[in-house]
Amino acid sequence: MTIQNNISDVIARINLAATECHRSPQDITLLAVSKTKPCEAILDAIEAGQRQFGENYVQEGVEKIQFFADRNDLIWHFIGPLQSNKSRLVAEYFDWFHTLDRAKIAQRLNDQRPSDKAPLNVLIQINISDENSKSGIKLEELEPLAQQISLMPNLVLRGLMTIPAPETDYEKQCVAFRKMESAFKQLQKIYPSVDTLSMGMTDDMRAAIHCGSTLVRIGTAIFGARQYDAQPEK
Ligand SMILES: *Cc1c(COP(=O)(O)O)cnc(C)c1O
Repeated sequence: MTIQNNISDVIARINLAATECHRSPQDITLLAVSKTKPCEAILDAIEAGQRQFGENYVQEGVEKIQFFADRNDLIWHFIGPLQSNKSRLVAEYFDWFHTLDRAKIAQRLNDQRPSDKAPLNVLIQINISDENSKSGIKLEELEPLAQQISLMPNLVLRGLMTIPAPETDYEKQCVAFRKMESAFKQLQKIYPSVDTLSMGMTDDMRAAIHCGSTLVRIGTAIFGARQYDAQPEK
């Protein structure tokens, strides 16, 4: 089955990249990014042993979480941009939120997290290289936002996430990732809950792992190319 082969290949690449820099492969989590892909594709991935999935669109993600509601071994990450009027669905359904970049959204997620659920795991998104992107904060803005989040009882600050500007050159990829690595280590010194550095996608996962990534978000290498036109955001 193709998806299962793809997952084996990706795991082998993660293991190799980790070995190259003397890290334990167990310290790197594979997040399968299933956005725009049907539940059958997710089922194939589950059969291959995959348990953590990333979604970018609130409505689509919630539908998939509901589809798999009878399983309690899956972990769902929201990794897309979030409009504040959709925060409640993220607070109610997801386990992780990767794209936190505003205190206002943090406050809403904190207020809307159901009391019978564990606190929502959150990552602060850093805009490390792409000046045109509106998502993510600058590193200079990290401390005050981290401080605010750390005071919210229904959120746990787990670390940082970034989507650097696309680069094909390994060394150029590393320039952005190394900045993230040092900001992450700084943050860890202040907040003991911080253990996750979410960076690396299909085309830059090796560089990301060499620079300390603890979670790679992989879509294309697992599920194949996406057809964006088939998936309008609602
Ligand atoms: C789509 C997406 C990915 C997966 O990208 P691939 O290049 O297909 O591996 C990872 N992270 C985020 C935030 C995404 O939106």
